[in-house]
Amino acid sequence: MLVAAQLSKHYDTARGPVPIVDDLSLEVARGESVAIMGPSGCGKSTLLYMLGALERPSSGTVTLDGRNPYALDDAAQSAFRNTHVGFVFQDHLLLPQLSALDNVLVPTLVTASPRPGAAADRARMLLDQMGLASRLDHRPGELSGGERQRVAVARALIQQPSLLLCDEPTGNLDRASADAIAGLLVSLQGTHDTMLVIVTHSPTLAARFSRRYALTDRRLVSA
Ligand code: ADP
Ligand code: MG
Repeated sequence: MLVAAQLSKHYDTARGPVPIVDDLSLEVARGESVAIMGPSGCGKSTLLYMLGALERPSSGTVTLDGRNPYALDDAAQSAFRNTHVGFVFQDHLLLPQLSALDNVLVPTLVTASPRPGAAADRARMLLDQMGLASRLDHRPGELSGGERQRVAVARALIQQPSLLLCDEPTGNLDRASADAIAGLLVSLQGTHDTMLVIVTHSPTLAARFSRRYALTDRRLVSA
């Protein structure tokens, strides 16, 4: 369960504080998927990062699986994020020198594995689910944009996060690749028991998720 309660966020700038979200609350249960829409600059990414233990709210609380990541020290907060949250950004952010398989394994390098090879087995399974079984050894430069983003989705899922956050994951893709990613994200709800929060400008993508909100006047309004 993800519970964001009375979240407010402002950025301090030379011209004074700039409010981004104000008294915003959101609950997402296991198996639920939520789409957030809104114009550029309205605060969607900031909200997503607050939900994902990446950006501390100015006030209010975030509770994920019963724990408040912002109550932890920096190292514990990073470790919490690494194991509980998966991120997919608009840019894939893959490491260019590593194969698809090794990119998917990156989040596991900092956590002790119960069984050697277990992480690699899971990475292969995820890449297979993403339709990339024949691309394990390809570097990002040898993959299409849609394939790179599917590797990024596999990397986001490698730690079995309870929360998957996607920030405009299809924003840089052509229509066919965007549809493929959308289909994968929707099907993940059945195969991985995760909560999904996605930011998108695409009404057709948003329509495929269980709830839709517009970030309007610093709050979420059902859309
Ligand atoms: P969106 O994802 O909806 O396009 P963002 O969450 O990225 O919006 O940004 C919301 C607003 O906050 C924008 O006006 C942006 O310029 C501002 N902003 C984002 N990050 C910072 C920061 N670190 N310092 C100051 N202002 C910021
Ligand atoms: Mg954004």
